Amino acid sequence: MKRSQLFTKTTKTSPNDEVSNSAKLLIRAGYVYKEMAGVYDYLPLGLRVLNNIMRVIREELNAIGSQELQLTALQNKEVWEASNRWSDEVMDVWFKTKLNAGGELGLAPTHEEPITRLMKPYISSYKDLPVYAYQFQTKFRNELRAKSGIMRTREFMMKDLYSFSKDRSEHDAFYEQCADAYMRIFHRLGIGEDTFRTFASGGAFSKFSDEFQTLCEVGEDTIYLDRDKGIAINEEVYNDATIRDLGLDKTKLEQHKAAEVGNIFTLGYRFSEALDLAYNDEDGSRKQVFMGSYGIGPSRVMGVIAEKLSDEHGLIWPTEIAPYQYYLVGIGEAAERHCAKLAEQAPEIVLWDDRPTARNGEKFADAELLGIPCRVVISDKTLADSKVEIKHRVNGQIELLTLDEFNNKLV
Ligand code: ATP
Ligand code: MG
Repeated sequence: MKRSQLFTKTTKTSPNDEVSNSAKLLIRAGYVYKEMAGVYDYLPLGLRVLNNIMRVIREELNAIGSQELQLTALQNKEVWEASNRWSDEVMDVWFKTKLNAGGELGLAPTHEEPITRLMKPYISSYKDLPVYAYQFQTKFRNELRAKSGIMRTREFMMKDLYSFSKDRSEHDAFYEQCADAYMRIFHRLGIGEDTFRTFASGGAFSKFSDEFQTLCEVGEDTIYLDRDKGIAINEEVYNDATIRDLGLDKTKLEQHKAAEVGNIFTLGYRFSEALDLAYNDEDGSRKQVFMGSYGIGPSRVMGVIAEKLSDEHGLIWPTEIAPYQYYLVGIGEAAERHCAKLAEQAPEIVLWDDRPTARNGEKFADAELLGIPCRVVISDKTLADSKVEIKHRVNGQIELLTLDEFNNKLV
């Protein structure tokens, strides 16, 4: 990719209507554009990061046997009335609209109801179970306060997975598999070390739900962390009884601000009863399907990563999700010609700063602001020695590679 083909530009000045560092950096670097409070567009570089985050999630979820689908955002009133969640008193984040043809519809804040109904023609026997289905879908929530840039918005990307199991024990086994997959995802995304499975309020079918909380100063939650055990308690269920139940030692718990990047819920029969999703068991009896739901917010995750993995010079993307791997700067005519060849050879991983009027210093500053993992400088001098200079964004270390060694990284 050539920098001159990117329509976005970087700026030195921070937007004055953003509080969080991640929002300031993402806007300055041209990853996102703010439409209004709590509503953002993803620009080419930002979309590449978001897509990379979704790719990592997809790979790990496919590996535990779940299937991707995509549901519509437009919601049928009757389906939500069946579970008593159409009412604004029960669900206070609805965006609703009237149909010109008559009637009302809503913009999905989540998808338990439609996916439960959708499964009715496909699940009728124990032989049809279990089913694990997920999607990446735009959710709409009329949040009272939108803050921290893309970490809490009124339109956002969610990965939502729903499990349909024969019974509690089949459900519990998948629930744990999914919790493990979540930790693998957060490690690959570069926030695994600071992300903790956290006990939070449950529902009718389980005492607790599991949140995945990432330590983060601008996070909205407060958690109490046992570092040795690697688990935490959300403030909402933090009390002596919970601490005792979980076998934790109050004096060892550290209080932290954190951001919820994902959560998993045992739903039990809540929705299968409301929408009558049942199956015939082996012994001929009719049983309700046992359900769970499992969310991750890829756009919030992107904000959390930008918040945590950045410094005074800009963003620092982990290699798995960086929009490009190499930010290429050529110094001198022969070097520029060589860069042109490399950029053409590997357009998906090389971003070549080919802007003729930009000074080298500006190019170097942009490499850092954009957070590309490696800045690669080729000058006529290094070229004469058959060398390239690589500077790693994460630790500032510089190494010299031969042209061949660098070429091998591009294939
Ligand atoms: P929160 O407690 O932060 O309001 P939630 O418990 O309502 O979130 P879920 O409904 O379970 O969250 O959504 C699944 C995931 O979607 C969350 O773990 C979070 O990562 C993300 N998410 C939820 N609300 C938003 C939002 N307004 N903007 C961006 N991401 C969100
Ligand atoms: Mg929550």
